[in-house]
Amino acid sequence: MITTLRTDITIGDVCEGFVYNEFEGKGLFGLSGKLVIQPEYQRNYIYADGKKDVAVIESILKGYPIGLIYFVKVAEDKYEILDGQQRITSIGRFKTNKFPVFDENGTPRYFRGLNPELQEKINKTPLTIYICEGEETEIKEWFKTINIAGVPLKEQELANAIHSGPFVTLAKEVFSNSRNANIQKWSAYISGAVDRQDYLRTALEWISKGYENEDNIDKYMSLHRYDDNINELKLYFDSVIDWISSVFDDVKPAMKGLEWGRLYETYHNTAYNNQEVSTLVNQLYEDIFVKNTKGIFEYILGGCQDKSLLDIRVFDESTKRVAYTKQTNSAKEEGKSNCPLCAVGNNANATKIWSLKEMDADHVTAWTRGGSTTIENCEMLCKTHNRSKGNR
Ligand SMILES: [Zn+2]
Repeated sequence: MITTLRTDITIGDVCEGFVYNEFEGKGLFGLSGKLVIQPEYQRNYIYADGKKDVAVIESILKGYPIGLIYFVKVAEDKYEILDGQQRITSIGRFKTNKFPVFDENGTPRYFRGLNPELQEKINKTPLTIYICEGEETEIKEWFKTINIAGVPLKEQELANAIHSGPFVTLAKEVFSNSRNANIQKWSAYISGAVDRQDYLRTALEWISKGYENEDNIDKYMSLHRYDDNINELKLYFDSVIDWISSVFDDVKPAMKGLEWGRLYETYHNTAYNNQEVSTLVNQLYEDIFVKNTKGIFEYILGGCQDKSLLDIRVFDESTKRVAYTKQTNSAKEEGKSNCPLCAVGNNANATKIWSLKEMDADHVTAWTRGGSTTIENCEMLCKTHNRSKGNR
């Protein structure tokens, strides 16, 4: 990798011929057509929030440095931005009057409304640019290195850079495009941001079984890098989404971001009754003893076996103490053990009075059969009996 430091290129130079694509939401060209501002592998422009973009311009107006910028030299006198794309796009958009900054009186000022000296000051500001020439593997290393500055690249943004090509381009059109009308539907099950590649990440994770091993995603992308279609990826993704919505009629907030790919692989050959599933989902969702609502769906898919998925709320200490006292008092009167299961036995324990800490709380009516975690349904058992009951 060869790097050359250039400090002679000014903001005015870089913004010469600046083109911003409002529709795609990205800066395209600059430096009189010699610079590609947003190569395909780069993330979308995310500074247009009236804060980050304004901060870039304010820094320049105050004479603060805006940091290092990296170009990759792709041909003689042709460059792509490797790092600095967000800042350059902000500057270009400001210079083309796309957003204002605010003066000391809070008055908005577009570039064209600044006094000529200020305009000149901005144009003459030199940038600190490293121009890099190197192999793709080196670029990958660079991305990792420069990742420490600014808004860090996400894993998938990095992967898009490494595997840039027709496959990534096509995949981004579908999964990284906030104008895709399906995003709304998908967002019920997928968390994260479309423009930060979280949906694409999820789609790739599902098809490659990246949930088993993250390296699978890289392998898949590498294998399909030069494909001229994304049919397999899209078909699998749609199958998972269709399966979720065919099993679960209800859309619950806790469904967002679950490991749907893994659940699909595990359960898509099992038949479910929608009505029953729906009833169960709603029951469990409203059950205040279910602490982990995210576990409801896998619990149901697995045939309501694995209660640990639900993280059931246990009896609290005061409830246990009240139940213990009540039980122990009447046991003493009757001359029986305060563990009802010991009391019906015929060994020495039949009359044994256990201390509170020798006992555990149990649901009289099992939680799975609708028993609540309230005092009326609380029964203290000796630890041995509680354990054997819990294992049923
Ligand atoms: Zn007992």
